[in-house]
Amino acid sequence: MAGIYIHIPFCKQACHYCDFHFSTGLKRQPEMVDAISQEIILRKEEQSPDIKTIYFGGGTPSLLSKEQILSVLETINAHFEVSLNAEITLEANPDDLSLEKIKELAQTPINRLSIGVQSFFEEDLQLMNRAHNQAEALSSIQNAKKYFDNISIDLIYGIPKMSEARWRENLEITLSLEVPHISSYALTVGPNTALRKMIDKGKVAPVEDALAKAHFDILQRVMSEAGFVNYEFSNYGKPGYFSKNNTAYWMGESYLGIGPSAHSYHQGVRSWNVANNIKYIKAIENKSLPLEQETLSVNDAYNEYVMTRLRTMWGIDLAEVEKLFGATYVNYLAKELPAFVEKELLEKKGEKYTITQKGKFLSDGIAADLFYIE
Ligand code: SF4
Repeated sequence: MAGIYIHIPFCKQACHYCDFHFSTGLKRQPEMVDAISQEIILRKEEQSPDIKTIYFGGGTPSLLSKEQILSVLETINAHFEVSLNAEITLEANPDDLSLEKIKELAQTPINRLSIGVQSFFEEDLQLMNRAHNQAEALSSIQNAKKYFDNISIDLIYGIPKMSEARWRENLEITLSLEVPHISSYALTVGPNTALRKMIDKGKVAPVEDALAKAHFDILQRVMSEAGFVNYEFSNYGKPGYFSKNNTAYWMGESYLGIGPSAHSYHQGVRSWNVANNIKYIKAIENKSLPLEQETLSVNDAYNEYVMTRLRTMWGIDLAEVEKLFGATYVNYLAKELPAFVEKELLEKKGEKYTITQKGKFLSDGIAADLFYIE
């Protein structure tokens, strides 16, 4: 079983914090959809033909028309075996989700929407240069709920000047909308982003770890009281609504990444497509794959396992570590892990070690301490 990820590299405008690959020139969208379908065909034998998740990410996949979505899905169906209960997600921005658009999406096999709300407050949306406003954030979800049951909302915390009260209010509005899944990320400032420049010029206050931590603590408390399971550091789901796509990725399962900048993973080999729309389209037209690849060493694969698993509720499983990486790594962990249990940063249940509430915000640092350095 595998997943397919489709990267749609277009956005109406550039959010100030974004460092994903996208272009605001939309005119190549039809060529891009053709190239994506061609790449699916070119790579159909690379991984298992049995597909359990399809994920349209970006960029802004909600810029695609119903016909374009259907044509990509038809290509996948013609060359792969898609499970009858496959999770098929489309990332959507609120400004695209008119009632009309939602009705169209409901006529496709898409069965999960991930809506990039980020905040319900005008001030935050403007600071981040999001294309939607507060009213669209609300109406997109209210309308989506009429046609979709499986909806996720993205929210960003740690935004400069966002008070704890406003963050709480964001969460209260989210909960009042009764969606079954929330992904919530701390605002990060990548080196080549507009936000970095604005902070450096003193136009925007810097992002502070202490604020992000205070918001994270509120998030944890509010979501847990509302019956959500924090199954991964940034992801909260009601039982039965965990993202199958993301979970497969954290569990080290194979996925085929299609489109410019998309990453793929299969049996220890990771590959990534060129992050340039024109180069991508040209290469695919010439029937060549614009990708680079690397084979992970056992050591790199172990370090990645530790990093990813400590962020999830499934944790590090020593029996699995032995099976995947061998005795050296289990012996190393058996020596290192007890100190973290003693500090109440990790919890031991049989052969499994999971992060505690106290350790959650420190999970990346704990993982780094558990890396094996050859
Ligand atoms: S909509 Fe998403 S991908 Fe596009 S610029 Fe904003 S954050 Fe980046």
